[in-house]
Amino acid sequence: MAKRKYNYDPQAKLFKTLMHPARLAILDVLRTREACVCHLEAALGYRQAYISQQLMELRKNGIVEPRRDGLNIFYRVSKPYIFSVLDSARTVLGEETQFTWPETLPSCDCPHCSQQE
Ligand SMILES: [Zn+2]
Repeated sequence: MAKRKYNYDPQAKLFKTLMHPARLAILDVLRTREACVCHLEAALGYRQAYISQQLMELRKNGIVEPRRDGLNIFYRVSKPYIFSVLDSARTVLGEETQFTWPETLPSCDCPHCSQQE
């Protein structure tokens, strides 16, 4: 077997992290704004514990980072170029339009959504 000259493990690890529909959805919601877990819960309909678990996986790889603001913790994408990877994936799949999540949700009472009166 030929000896590997280049270490592909970091790339494989990144794709492994992305290889998860809920994580892709979370990243898409975070594309235009930071969000707390309760906003992600309202947007995606997953349970809070499940979202926290997926956020932890994204945090472990440095893709997402938390920001504490008083009692609230907001999550944001710390490596925005991840979106060019996600957009390229859509291009590969022949999906021309990207789905855009609304900035605010009527059903959400997170600090960002409830400010928009
Ligand atoms: Zn909200």
